[in-house]
Amino acid sequence: MDLPVLYIVIPCYNEEEVLPITAPEFLEELEFLKSEKLISDKSRIMFVNDGSRDKTWEIIKDLSSKNEAYTGICLSRNRGHQNALLGGLMEAKDLADITISIDCDGQDDIKAMTEMVKQYHEGCEVVYGVRSKRETDTFMKRFTAESFYKLMKIMGAEVVFNHADYRLVSSKVLKEFSNFKEVNIFLRGMIPLVGFKSTSVYYERHERIAGESHYPLSKMLALAFDGITSLSIKPIRIITGSGVVVSLLSFIMIIYMIVGYFLGNTIQGWVSTSSIICFLCGVQILSLGVIGEYVGKIYLETKARPRYIISERTGLSSKQSEEDL
Ligand code: UDP
Ligand code: MG
Repeated sequence: MDLPVLYIVIPCYNEEEVLPITAPEFLEELEFLKSEKLISDKSRIMFVNDGSRDKTWEIIKDLSSKNEAYTGICLSRNRGHQNALLGGLMEAKDLADITISIDCDGQDDIKAMTEMVKQYHEGCEVVYGVRSKRETDTFMKRFTAESFYKLMKIMGAEVVFNHADYRLVSSKVLKEFSNFKEVNIFLRGMIPLVGFKSTSVYYERHERIAGESHYPLSKMLALAFDGITSLSIKPIRIITGSGVVVSLLSFIMIIYMIVGYFLGNTIQGWVSTSSIICFLCGVQILSLGVIGEYVGKIYLETKARPRYIISERTGLSSKQSEEDL
């Protein structure tokens, strides 16, 4: 059996301080995997420069001129972590059999790649890197990050708990994933939608080697909001639900007020005014929810996601192999 070609895809944004330290560590792991006969000699490291304003791209070019194992692509401007990663993965899917995406700041344990590749050899097409501990993170970072996963779950966007974007994905999965045409992307929630056999590998998260996090609270909230709205229409359901509840409550209120009116313990004009307010409140929220349901359907339809994905064929030649003939 041919050894699989691995591409390690690494998004970088203003990482001039970090890159010179971590790049050799990635190379060391790549060489180790080659020497263990787990991956092919054609395996590479692919940096994605996400429109950095510092010397990041110069460093990447310099690395690749010195060692052919280093490659890089440069985005025309800063598009954010998720888009940079997608760009790298889409570039790598035609060159590699497997990809591993990882941040360039050395926070995720590079050594966990060995286990990921082994899991691929065991037949898994997707291997999620999951943080077992977050002791090195500040209380605030840990709290916000864990609330993030909980909020996502409540809102109907299923993600692997404590898994960021450190994962192995085979090119087979990436080719199917390229049929997900949506513009708002949230990779860690979308990869599980593709399916195929998957597993998790656990590792400890370290501190950032140098530089600062590019994910302050505001960006994290934006990511959570994107994640929820791009994966689920549950927020709309919540509006519809609250419309039903408000309608019911206002109905009870109206009965209560009418009873009060006949018992004579209300002032003039109160019952009629309040009844109208209660009634309209309920009707309005409910109507909003109903309109929202349609908007939600339109939203999901416009994504034109594939309705099913065939994972394997037997006795039938796939389109690809027909073309090869
Ligand atoms: N990153 C990127 N584009 C951005 C922001 C970040 O490509 O606009 C990269 C960054 O270089 C790093 C990874 O995404 O490799 C994760 O960012 P960071 O370490 O700042 O986030 P944190 O680990 O604190 O969540
Ligand atoms: Mg980081």
